[in-house]
Amino acid sequence: MIEKYYPDLYFDSIRHIDINILKERGIKGVILDIDNTLVPMHTLDADENAISWVAELQKIGFKVCILSNASLKRVTRFNKEMSVMAIHRAYKPAGKAFLAAAEKMGLEPESVAVIGDQIFTDIYGGNKVNMLTVLVKPIDKKEILYVRLKRHIEKRVLGRFSNVQKSGLEVRNEWKKNRLQIERSRLK
Ligand SMILES: [Mg+2]
Repeated sequence: MIEKYYPDLYFDSIRHIDINILKERGIKGVILDIDNTLVPMHTLDADENAISWVAELQKIGFKVCILSNASLKRVTRFNKEMSVMAIHRAYKPAGKAFLAAAEKMGLEPESVAVIGDQIFTDIYGGNKVNMLTVLVKPIDKKEILYVRLKRHIEKRVLGRFSNVQKSGLEVRNEWKKNRLQIERSRLK
């Protein structure tokens, strides 16, 4: 089922995300990817853009949790200035890490939005636990070959996404709900 890879929302960058839509959807917390979402790939420290945007989210009252597959060292350094909740070595798209992030924020998965640049880790993972999924365009174009290959497939998925989004989303939303039960039962 290709729909399980569909994001709920798609924006050019974090700055383009319409926060009002998130509020309208009942979102109270966000899970954030680092690489190519908040900063370009391999950027060690959070930059002014990322820091101020995260601060704005917090000012609105959103809880924020970084969820990254990177190491503790990498995530700790990146998070030094913004100092938000964070989970490293998340093994995205594992549902477990997304549920752990929701728990850290004290929120139900349904009131959490996942914001990331990769369909097969951020979006698929968030969909698996019935979170609102927000895809952003990757900041950096210079990516390692492996990611470039994935992008190629992502483009094909997104091509279909725009064509069949409406009809596919109902099927997908049903799948998301059922999948959350499965992911939760795995934690017991
Ligand atoms: Mg990323």
